[in-house]
Amino acid sequence: MPTADAARGPAAGTDMAGADDESRVEVDLAAVRHNLRVLRTAAGQAQVMAVLKADAYGHGLLPVARTALAAGTTWFGVARASDALRLRTELRPADARVLTWLHTPGAPFARLLDSDVDVSVGAPWALEEVAAAARDTGRVARVHLKVDTGMGRNGVGSGELVPLARRAASLAATGRVEVVGLWTHLACADTPGHPATHDQVARFEDATDVLRTAGIDVPLRHVAASAATLTDPRLHYDLVRPGLATYGLSPLPPGDPRASMLTPAMTLRSRLAAVRTVPPGTPVSYGSEHRTARRTVLGLVPLGYADGVPRHASTDGRGPARVHVNGRAARVVGRICMDQLVVDLGPGAGDAPGDAVTLFGPPGAGGVPTAAHWAASAGTITYEVVSRASAALPRTYRDDDAS
Ligand SMILES: *Cc1c(COP(=O)(O)O)cnc(C)c1O
Repeated sequence: MPTADAARGPAAGTDMAGADDESRVEVDLAAVRHNLRVLRTAAGQAQVMAVLKADAYGHGLLPVARTALAAGTTWFGVARASDALRLRTELRPADARVLTWLHTPGAPFARLLDSDVDVSVGAPWALEEVAAAARDTGRVARVHLKVDTGMGRNGVGSGELVPLARRAASLAATGRVEVVGLWTHLACADTPGHPATHDQVARFEDATDVLRTAGIDVPLRHVAASAATLTDPRLHYDLVRPGLATYGLSPLPPGDPRASMLTPAMTLRSRLAAVRTVPPGTPVSYGSEHRTARRTVLGLVPLGYADGVPRHASTDGRGPARVHVNGRAARVVGRICMDQLVVDLGPGAGDAPGDAVTLFGPPGAGGVPTAAHWAASAGTITYEVVSRASAALPRTYRDDDAS
């Protein structure tokens, strides 16, 4: 039984009386806690960083962070400085470390240092700006050097690492900069045993040697996101950085048993806005691409792509997306629109306007579609399905087994 249904996301309107009846994102905080326990066990000796970027993958930064903090999480990771600062000012996780890693020149490094945030340095300019901010604030900057070992994205390449390591060592000698971390990100960890991972680890070990030669013995090395945390202890190093698995979703190939312990935390709910019996051959939605094959009952769901429902789920022909209505599945028909979509409830369906609709959620006995089903229908990944659930939709939080 749900026990609490109170807190709402910051973007929710203030006129939400009866919000239980509206389209909404429901987040199960007990599931987040459960997933963190699973990850804590999987991580072995390594520390666990809960990755909370993109508003905690759409689940809500502060409620998830609060839950993780209460569950003993000691590290939080975010891409953006603004999220790190929000964590520090609104949550004040005194005992937890916060790392932020995506910066552009002019980033608010002084505020980050003043707020006791660890910063990633993935380029020479960033090291200089962080050092200047440390001088200006009188703080010691805790820096994690990011190396690109084969992801081809963020971080210094092997050619740039020697001068960066030397510069970091000389800044460390002044006492203004402390190199606390060396880290990288894997490109192919979602395919366990992929040879590219082996190559990346070899380059990471080389990078460790470069730092050591420069006189830096780095205490924290980290590589693993969800996939490597769940599948390969050799990749755990000192700290693991699971994002997706924190929310109960798996980056591994479908059916991988190592994902079965996770519980999806997000449910996307709505209610039928209209129900209508139509004759065979009735065109549905823009372009009239879908025509009913028989006399049937159509239901109108007031959610669309502006709410984050992937439009491709209706147009790409990868197998229709489904929703759950009154204990059974109903397929999405016709193109998904900006704020509405149509489902075929089947001939003679007795569903009524106002009846509850679940687009996706944890797989239940009744066969509720999952974010993974929606991702497959849309030709995308669950990361995108949950993180794009519109911030304008109200979030409701349940916590069934708070202890
Ligand atoms: C997003 C991200 C993670 C978490 O990845 P998941 O696959 O969601 O676990 C870890 N590290 C970095 C650098 C990231 O950008």
